[in-house]
Amino acid sequence: MTYRAPVADIAFTLKHGTGLAPTLSQAGDFGADDVDAVLQEAGRFASDVIAPLNALGDRHGTPFKDGTVTMPPGWKEAYRAWAAAGWNAVSAPAEWGGQALPHALNAACIEMWNSASMAFGIGPVLTMGAAEALAAHGTNDLKRRYLGKLVSGEWMGTMELTEPQAGSDVGALRTKAERSADGSYRLTGQKIFITYGEHDLTENIVHFVLARLPDAPPGTRGISLFLIPKFLVNKDGSLGPRNDLRAHSIEHKLGIHASPTCTMIYGDNGGAVGFLVGEENRGLACMFTMMNLARLAVGLQGVGIAERATQQALQYARERKQGRAASARDAGPSPIVEHPDVRRMLMTMRALTRAARAICYATAGAIDASRSSGEAAEAANARAALLTPVAKAFSTDIGIEVASLGVQVHGGMGFIEETGAAQHLRDARIAAIYEGTNGIQAVDLVMRKLPLGGGAVVRGYLDELRATAKAVQAANDPAFGMTGARLAEAIDSLDRATTWLLGKIDAAPQSALAGATPYLRLFGNAAGGCMLADEALAALRLADGEPAARVAIARFFAENIAVQAGGLERAVIDGADAVNAADAALA
Ligand SMILES: Cc1cc2nc3c(=O)[nH]c(=O)nc-3n(C[C@H](O)[C@H](O)[C@H](O)COP(=O)(O)OP(=O)(O)OC[C@H]3O[C@@H](n4cnc5c(N)ncnc54)[C@H](O)[C@@H]3O)c2cc1C
Repeated sequence: MTYRAPVADIAFTLKHGTGLAPTLSQAGDFGADDVDAVLQEAGRFASDVIAPLNALGDRHGTPFKDGTVTMPPGWKEAYRAWAAAGWNAVSAPAEWGGQALPHALNAACIEMWNSASMAFGIGPVLTMGAAEALAAHGTNDLKRRYLGKLVSGEWMGTMELTEPQAGSDVGALRTKAERSADGSYRLTGQKIFITYGEHDLTENIVHFVLARLPDAPPGTRGISLFLIPKFLVNKDGSLGPRNDLRAHSIEHKLGIHASPTCTMIYGDNGGAVGFLVGEENRGLACMFTMMNLARLAVGLQGVGIAERATQQALQYARERKQGRAASARDAGPSPIVEHPDVRRMLMTMRALTRAARAICYATAGAIDASRSSGEAAEAANARAALLTPVAKAFSTDIGIEVASLGVQVHGGMGFIEETGAAQHLRDARIAAIYEGTNGIQAVDLVMRKLPLGGGAVVRGYLDELRATAKAVQAANDPAFGMTGARLAEAIDSLDRATTWLLGKIDAAPQSALAGATPYLRLFGNAAGGCMLADEALAALRLADGEPAARVAIARFFAENIAVQAGGLERAVIDGADAVNAADAALA
């Protein structure tokens, strides 16, 4: 089954959640109609051009021979048409050929590219991040030579941190950079697991590589960022000689088979020519410009794959007949969608997907708001910092869960490759691992984000969530069932777990770290539940956006998913000791 972009749903969440509402409320030349027009066109491209390549890419993979990677049939044409239509440049700066539209709108597009094909969607995400980092930290000369082509998508970019001994521990990297007399650098070393490190989609590939100078301090404070083009670029913009770098091999993976994952070798012949981006030894800060956006984009991969899996499971459940449902009026077998247990699976899929979407778009909206200046921008920056690990980890965790439920809804056919349900599960699995594993995201949330503003940032957010729960209760609409009360309980759990963690971060970091993953899930459950309720309230107020469906989804989430908050709270507060006392069990 193919994918139909849910443009109306996406538009509603964007316009009535915190993703785009603040932007749209400011007078300007960009309005709700423009949002609809962009989403319609992106949805058409994703559904009609990219989605049909997904299964083919999975089967074909990216054959590697003599240092070159051949993308699956049709991918080059699709990529070039996609870039020519301006999709790589949606939120890039106008000065370099971008359309300077809000990140939240680009986030919605990124979701659709990834629903259509995760293996397709991940390449541009890295190019967009590379363009961001170069725009923010590059010299004028570097920008003139590279930025326009990265913004247009004529060339693609990579992001290269990982080495065999340096995964989560980026500070352990060893790739070496030496200063050259002409002001450039010579790089030698090996990077592994590099997404789109080599391919034939574009004429040039611009690698953004973290490396260490000979006199650099140890650890993360001694890392610098270098731009290393596959082909050097002459002053007039034409391509010069091939640089001293090559793809050594590609990985054979569980999923995203059409995304080439390469081992890259730098400096076989004296050193690859690299150019410093930002300052020496300040590379990690520059890379973070890319990484925060990339983390959000990977969260959107989770949303994208969950949406596609849900669509497919729903269609199958309407067609497949087995047994007679308890509610059936007709004799004979019923479509499985009528069996309550299947409905539970489908509702779980839909509700988790919508909640993750709302969290990701809200994060993108906070990133947009942080780009202005003044106090409001600072607050938005803190909000984006708080939500980014949740957007990444919650959304990719639910991506896997939803894709797995998708297989389950298909029964035995789900385990058979031809339905495509299995591919979604295989593809979804990586998103919880790359761009900082979800465990690392949880640690980031607890150890670095909760203490922001002495805890005031997270407390301010909890107050907003509480206001939503109260608004649902005040609406006094029986269709909401117990939504208001269940959300209030989930927020209380989140509040208590937050207070407990804030007290442990310095006093007993082992305990705080042990609770990080259940805390992140608790945060996602409470925040996602409130966002769905906000959307339902907006739909009722506007009599638009399918209010009955939105209320039903918000209610299902509150009564079936948000209620897990109590258990998660206990795992955070009471479970830490059991985690850390487990030496004997792990012997
Ligand atoms: C298909 C694919 C594409 C990739 N693309 C890129 C790319 O384009 N560029 C790039 O640079 N890298 C890329 N990566 C690498 C990816 O980012 C790393 O695999 C990831 O960061 C985890 O590092 P690792 O594999 O070394 O795992 P490890 O760091 O060894 O982690 C193993 C486990 O230990 C946990 N762990 C480790 N340290 C801690 C800690 N301090 N606290 C708590 N838990 C911890 C992790 O959460 C994980 O569960 C890619 C990987 C794959 C598989």
